[in-house]
Amino acid sequence: MPAGAETTYDVVVLGGGSGGYACALRAAGLGLSVALVEKAKLGGTCLHQGCIPTKALLHAAEVADTAREGSRFGVKTTFESIDMSGVNRYKDGVVARLHKGLQGLVSAATIDYVEGEGRLVAPDTVSVGERRLTGRHVVLATGSFPRTLPGLTIGGRIMTSEQALTLDHVPARVIVLGGGVIGVEFASVFRSFGSEVTVVEALPRLVAAEDEGASKQLERAFRKRKIVVRAGVRFSGATQLGDVVTVTLEGGETLEADLLLVAVGRGPVTEGLGYDEVGVAMERGFVTTDARLQTSVPGVYAVGDIVPGLQLAHRGFAQGIFVAEDIAGLQPAPIDETGIPRVTYCDPEIASVGLTEAQAREKFADVETYEYNLGGNGKSQILQTAGFVKLVREKDGPVVGVHMVGARMGEQIGEAQLIVGWEGFPADVASLVHAHPTQNEALGEAHLALAGKPLHAHA
Ligand SMILES: Cc1cc2nc3c(=O)[nH]c(=O)nc-3n(C[C@H](O)[C@H](O)[C@H](O)COP(=O)(O)OP(=O)(O)OC[C@H]3O[C@@H](n4cnc5c(N)ncnc54)[C@H](O)[C@@H]3O)c2cc1C
Repeated sequence: MPAGAETTYDVVVLGGGSGGYACALRAAGLGLSVALVEKAKLGGTCLHQGCIPTKALLHAAEVADTAREGSRFGVKTTFESIDMSGVNRYKDGVVARLHKGLQGLVSAATIDYVEGEGRLVAPDTVSVGERRLTGRHVVLATGSFPRTLPGLTIGGRIMTSEQALTLDHVPARVIVLGGGVIGVEFASVFRSFGSEVTVVEALPRLVAAEDEGASKQLERAFRKRKIVVRAGVRFSGATQLGDVVTVTLEGGETLEADLLLVAVGRGPVTEGLGYDEVGVAMERGFVTTDARLQTSVPGVYAVGDIVPGLQLAHRGFAQGIFVAEDIAGLQPAPIDETGIPRVTYCDPEIASVGLTEAQAREKFADVETYEYNLGGNGKSQILQTAGFVKLVREKDGPVVGVHMVGARMGEQIGEAQLIVGWEGFPADVASLVHAHPTQNEALGEAHLALAGKPLHAHA
């Protein structure tokens, strides 16, 4: 393509992360002509700096714990040490294979993949260097970046998840600033790798967006793992001197560590990209959309982390697919955000879908809950994990929330999501036979109990 050339497509997607590439793939699959603009690596945050590398680290952490704890199962094992170059080789290998696979999918889909930094220069045009890509529709999918706090400069021993993913050693002492999903996942990894870990969270509890019961169970499990949790405590500043980072809390208390991980949330990548100039409405930097993900500018859509709501890869995939189908005229049903499943992959895992108990109590006059303790679940006892399955329903109505805590419970989210998404009643689920002994059985047993016929349920 000569410099300065102008090409017209059905869809121009700006950003090749989860939301952008899903949109491009679905649009191409529907026979639309598509350009996908990406300035860094196809796959975006999720593949290169998010979901995949962190879950590889969490798996290495589980292997370390298994080696350390073999004697609990009568197996003589010893844990020697973590070889970060080996861990990174494994993690990077997983990412590289998936990246290659994704590149293959995009090229097979005959998407015009344009490398470079794009900018919205008109409601129907993205410029990349000298090129102008014109689209009947433009989809903004530029993702998010790790935030920091005022006065807290990232560098040296103060880092975000991005730098923490490339560490070549295990720090002896880590302070994690922020007890949200990313913070607790890294706290879990570092602890399993042998670091002393303190989590500092300004809100009164860890993973504050989750059901309060799940937060309490996680804090209990973290304390058992000797992760120090300082919730309801505000950070006031941090300094680096030599090999030590000193964190000062409001009230003057100081904590020392070898590494400070800043995990205080992610902001939208929307500044300086022409969105403002073209008239795309925004709120605190996020692009606001209607339920069909259309921005205030006709023909311009937005998907993924730049749209206010859950910052999750599968939400981005779903939004990308939705927009492609909408553009193709398939009239898809809008995505119900409360039905989007959430998994936090620390040890123990938290998996949830639908309303928390507090949210249900705000919405309904009468709410019923049931907590099934994994103590009664054979497979969880075999795995030696503690936790629960908590169901939330409107009194005499369908189940509107499922909250699970325990090792590997993330794998149970699929059925939970169907129950909430299909507005299942406890009796509907109770009539389905769940395989024994599985952790999935705990979901079945919770519904049996809520339907009034408990089996292995301890009061
Ligand atoms: C540490 C961590 C762990 C996570 N774990 C999970 C998890 O387990 N499960 C889960 O569901 N989610 C997880 N997430 C969240 C998930 O990664 C994001 O929700 C997802 O990547 C959002 O997709 P997106 O397409 O909106 O943005 P991104 O994936 O950020 O992609 C945006 C893309 O746009 C490109 N871009 C930006 N500006 C331009 C420009 N001007 N021109 C061209 N290209 C541009 C960027 O380079 C990037 O590739 C995690 C995130 C982090 C940071």
